[in-house]
Amino acid sequence: MKKYDYLVVGAGLYGAVFAQQAKEKGKKVLVIDKRPHIAGNVYTEDVEGIHVHKYGAHIFHTNNKEVWDYITKFAEFNRFTNSPVANYKGELYSLPFNMYTFNKMWGVVTPEEAAEKIEEQKKAAGITEPKNLEEQAISLVGTDIYEKLVKGYTEKQWGRPCTELPAFIIKRLPVRLTFDNNYFNALYQGIPMGGYTKMVENLLAGIEVKVSTDYFANKAEYDAMAEKVVYTGAIDAYFDYKLGALEYRSVRFETELLDRPNFQGNAAVNYTDAETPWTRIIEHKWFEFGKDDAGNDLPKTVVSREYSSEWKVGDEPYYPVNDEKNGALYQQYKELGEQEEHVIFGGRLGEYKYYDMDAVIASALAMSEKELGK
Ligand code: FAD
Repeated sequence: MKKYDYLVVGAGLYGAVFAQQAKEKGKKVLVIDKRPHIAGNVYTEDVEGIHVHKYGAHIFHTNNKEVWDYITKFAEFNRFTNSPVANYKGELYSLPFNMYTFNKMWGVVTPEEAAEKIEEQKKAAGITEPKNLEEQAISLVGTDIYEKLVKGYTEKQWGRPCTELPAFIIKRLPVRLTFDNNYFNALYQGIPMGGYTKMVENLLAGIEVKVSTDYFANKAEYDAMAEKVVYTGAIDAYFDYKLGALEYRSVRFETELLDRPNFQGNAAVNYTDAETPWTRIIEHKWFEFGKDDAGNDLPKTVVSREYSSEWKVGDEPYYPVNDEKNGALYQQYKELGEQEEHVIFGGRLGEYKYYDMDAVIASALAMSEKELGK
């Protein structure tokens, strides 16, 4: 008889949801994480009463009622709606592209005028078969929106000119002929009140958790303690990179506390020109309307500048690279994983997949149902 039914490697959302479900079914669970804190990439850190999204801004949004009903048992969500602003050389535009954007761009007032303007520009460009991302974007939204709101931002994100990027990266560029700047347009969205860390703490209540604990430092010992392992770390790391390393894209954050109450008046401002080196500035307090947990106005503010950066082995992995080479390498690791009968690989790193939070919760719930029954 082993001490635990499950060892969960990783205290991020996948691991925490699986652990919560297993505990509810009466299983003995140990959760370990190599970081000094729980919550994985959704971790929020308290700075002067502000919940700072340490690994990038996280906005919860879903149309999945089952996920929403589940997660709201562990946190109350506020009614934050993501409405980012674009700053192009000091000109501010509403995102995603909507009537506010078109009015500011061209002075048009009616949806017909806006649609006509876009069509006119698309026609003038005369692109029938887009050969690269630039041509693709212009053929979808015309030159003005492309030049001011797409080009610089995309080039900074990918570190290459749009003319050298493949057209397929942008399949759609939604244009709204309404005054609607609700970015996600999901049925349910918001930010957990008190921060994501508190929400994950609630998921893990009553479960044994060890942070600053790397699975690979004592793998054999941990394996001997549990009947099964739920592994949410990187799948290539599990196999000691023996087939090579999977690649990621990275983001670098420069975060500072400012002694003023309001820096930019919005949670997210995208810098869409090519010259500004950062892609976005996040002002964390606006995810919670500038208030602390007790509802008081916060006198200071914390901002994070985000820089898109190349990833090297050893850097924090953020976005999997969905190209053929990495897809094929992942398939090989997946096959190796299937031979590890006592291990479940899950989550964004274990499955080398970009997962939104609602999708990772849904995936962990589905896996726990498969493992433990309904
Ligand atoms: P993680 O949170 O990464 O958890 C895995 C954990 O495993 C980590 O804590 C890690 O330390 C631990 N671990 C790894 N190896 C070991 C080891 N050897 N030993 C012990 N522990 C180990 N989703 C949204 O829905 N809305 C958003 O606005 C949004 N914004 C995002 C912004 C950015 C920049 C990024 C990158 C993602 C964003 N996401 C967003 C997605 C969201 O972050 C993920 O859905 C979620 O974090 C995935 O959880 P996870 O448990 O799979 O992974």
